[in-house]
Amino acid sequence: MQLYNSATHKKEPFETHTPNHVEMYTCGPTVYHFAHIGNLRSYIMEDVLEKFLRYDGYSVNRVMNITDVGHLSSDADTGEDKMLKGARREHKTVMEIAQYYTDAFFEDCRKLNIKRPDTVQPATGLIDDFIHIVSTLLEKGYAYLAGGNVYFDTSKLDHYYVFNNQDEEDLAVGVREGVEEDPNKRNKNDFVLWFTKSKFEDQALKWDSPWGVGYPGWHIECSGISLKYNGEYLDLHCGGIDNAFPHHTNEIAQSESYLGHPWCKQWFHVHHLNTNSGKMSKSKGEFLTVSLLEEKGYDPLAYRFFCLQSHYRKGLVFSWENLDNAQGAYNKLLKKIAALDSKDGSVDQAVLDEYKAKFVEQVGNDLNTSMGITALYDALKAKTNGATKLAILDSFDQVLSLSLLEKAAQLREKQAAQTQSNAGGYTVTGEGAPAIDALVLARGEAKKAKNFAEADRIRDELKAQGIEVTDVPGGASWKRI
Ligand code: AMP
Ligand code: ZN
Repeated sequence: MQLYNSATHKKEPFETHTPNHVEMYTCGPTVYHFAHIGNLRSYIMEDVLEKFLRYDGYSVNRVMNITDVGHLSSDADTGEDKMLKGARREHKTVMEIAQYYTDAFFEDCRKLNIKRPDTVQPATGLIDDFIHIVSTLLEKGYAYLAGGNVYFDTSKLDHYYVFNNQDEEDLAVGVREGVEEDPNKRNKNDFVLWFTKSKFEDQALKWDSPWGVGYPGWHIECSGISLKYNGEYLDLHCGGIDNAFPHHTNEIAQSESYLGHPWCKQWFHVHHLNTNSGKMSKSKGEFLTVSLLEEKGYDPLAYRFFCLQSHYRKGLVFSWENLDNAQGAYNKLLKKIAALDSKDGSVDQAVLDEYKAKFVEQVGNDLNTSMGITALYDALKAKTNGATKLAILDSFDQVLSLSLLEKAAQLREKQAAQTQSNAGGYTVTGEGAPAIDALVLARGEAKKAKNFAEADRIRDELKAQGIEVTDVPGGASWKRI
């Protein structure tokens, strides 16, 4: 595959340290609140990338951290501890908050068909490993103690800036909210490896270390977790674009200084989901969650479909109108698939292989997921039988994960179960329950006789059974709600 590498600013052939095997790391969520659908855009695109690599014949070892300590409200070690803020907001302990929002995150992932990585490691579970790395960095002269904290000394590196040049990165830091000067830092971009002098008196999570009781800085967790589960050579590191600097830059600085050799070759960054008023973020207060989309009647997979329609390296603007369009297109696609007949012929392997090869070529061009969606419509139009079309769609869905065949089967069942009862020119369409049909018919007759009290009584009786009746020309239709 060809993949854009943020470290070289170029689209390059994807290469791995061990042939046909990918060591992949993803920055996981900070579990102090629900994930917003912007965060989940990043996880959807990373999920498709992993599934595409597997589809393309690689084995993948995917690792993700859960940030449950150390992430301050500014990525540059200033501001409040995000976990403490969450715990205070909800009058719970930090660990209760962490467990609750970790579970909520994976529940959202389940609804969006995002596969759970092979290894998921909370930062609080690996403190000894972080202490070992910090000790080595001190021994090698890459770190120093100041004011009770351990800092990484960025002046020890020939190339600290990786993703952009210094001016661009400094500009990015300059605009970040809440950045205060830390007088302990020798250089502006030095960062904390270990806090002992916590500025939070109520800091709940702290551990013994050679430098006193304290807790790790945010960046060290990703280096430590990846080194443990991915080994010394990482092939692919993923995250949202805001993670590039300073988080990923600092991960590279400390990992390579610790190892003494290059660490990760390819960097994959997903651009932001924006609203009309800018980047979606939790610090702004209001943000959209998967549960909210569901409450408003959207299928979470319609949001996945919406994300796949655009390229991961472009900002994506969210609006309800855009989501309506995606839900409409997704429903139409499912209807078309539901109309295919699996008993129409048998799978033509040559056609299936031809379509698969084209899909790999197109989506393999820097994870072009919108071409992946187009490929679904091409499959529907293919000059082949129903069985082959279904096999092609099923195959592509291993990567796109839109539950296409499963949802189409559900739709077919629903359509088959629909019954029609007719009496005196009044037609009742429902979901296949003659007793309900009869009640709806009785309501129609009561209305015809202008006995509205009786008609309303029957409607209420149906409502109590979870049935919603809608009047349509020439009759009524009902469905379970
Ligand atoms: P956090 O839980 O804040 O650590 O963020 C989790 C992931 O979501 C990180 O990879 C972020 O870079 C990413 N992210 C944050 N905001 C957005 C956004 N508006 N659109 C897409 N990804 C985002
Ligand atoms: Zn990270």
